[in-house]
Amino acid sequence: MQWEQVLAPRMGRMKASEIRELLKLLDQPDIISFAGGIPDPALFPVAAFQDALGAALAPGKADAALQYSVSEGYLPLRQWLAEHMTGLGIPCGVDNILITSGSQQALDYLGKMMIGAGDTVLVNAPTYMGALGAFNAYEPVYDRLDPRENRGAAEYSAKAVDAGGTVKFAYLSVDFANPTGETIARAEREKVLDLADALGAAIVEDAAYQALRFDGEAVPPILALEIARKGSIEECRTIYCGSFSKTLAPGLRVGWVCAASPVIGRLVLMKQAADLHSSTLNQMAIAEVAARHFESHVAGLRTVYKARRDHMLAALSREMPSGVSWTRPEGGMFVWITLPEGMDGAELLARSLETERVAFVPGRAFFADGSGGNTIRLSFSRADQAAIDEGIRRLGALIAREIG
Ligand code: PMP
Repeated sequence: MQWEQVLAPRMGRMKASEIRELLKLLDQPDIISFAGGIPDPALFPVAAFQDALGAALAPGKADAALQYSVSEGYLPLRQWLAEHMTGLGIPCGVDNILITSGSQQALDYLGKMMIGAGDTVLVNAPTYMGALGAFNAYEPVYDRLDPRENRGAAEYSAKAVDAGGTVKFAYLSVDFANPTGETIARAEREKVLDLADALGAAIVEDAAYQALRFDGEAVPPILALEIARKGSIEECRTIYCGSFSKTLAPGLRVGWVCAASPVIGRLVLMKQAADLHSSTLNQMAIAEVAARHFESHVAGLRTVYKARRDHMLAALSREMPSGVSWTRPEGGMFVWITLPEGMDGAELLARSLETERVAFVPGRAFFADGSGGNTIRLSFSRADQAAIDEGIRRLGALIAREIG
């Protein structure tokens, strides 16, 4: 079979992620891994889920738990989320919430909803590679969004027209971003709003790590800043994507979108067409565990991850040679390292796996334009303190040898 003959052009843009290929290697027990940005399974609220699943499958409830359900999502979970979002400065109701199968599905739907081939999406460089992966299928052009640069709307717009489309939306990983660990400051969020207003474009606010702040002051979500300007979520162009993956359990695949109700209405049509609804049982379990344990569970996560972040930053200060710099995240799971100019993160990984048995993610895949060769992403979420000490010691020594 000549598959090329039958493939759609969009398949040309869909490539295996470097991270996914790498994760296959990490089953080897002697590897110290700072690679996958995933929760520590030792911290999953297992007993709470056992209770919640047991309750959902009890006589009288099991019929609903195992049955088809509505595309919008399980109503008690949407009610909990409407309150949760209100608590974040985003007053809204259930009509502003759609449950998705992870926030990754929301990114796919938003790409499908807005991007035509040749349209422009504005992204930070670097940005979450899974978002680029989701959007790529709809054949966008990427332009760089750097809130510190002073490019006006006219300039973005002219470039998009040259590329054969218009600017459809700006995508931002806002808090403790994947991959840099950095948080977009309030003033920069306001500037993105100004720009989107001037362009008539949407904003996709990816808040996957929002709950994992260890220190510093919380920055209001872009959607909250926009509601403060415009009075109601119904007037807003920002589409907020949330997730239970980093707080409760990624394997259950439950995330949400919070936006103006006409946007939710369109996404419901897409959800109907794509998978009808997210798992009823998983939504019920998440609703129960969130209602009973969300705040206390997340407080526990923050304590553990904060200690790991502190440990990693201390190890980096101790072990890294001069010429290497890194971010100091206020939460989340990632530290982003800039290597000396000319050093290549992917080559460093190959050598590190071979001689040091230390894994991390080379930075280039997070840049839509293929730049960023001299960067790497380290995750501190799964490594214990001894592994952090030893892994960073080995990595520092390797980089020092590479510098020569
Ligand atoms: N956004 C960001 C920034 C992420 O890091 C991730 C997971 N790595 C996702 C979205 C997707 O997460 P999920 O689909 O599990 O909610």
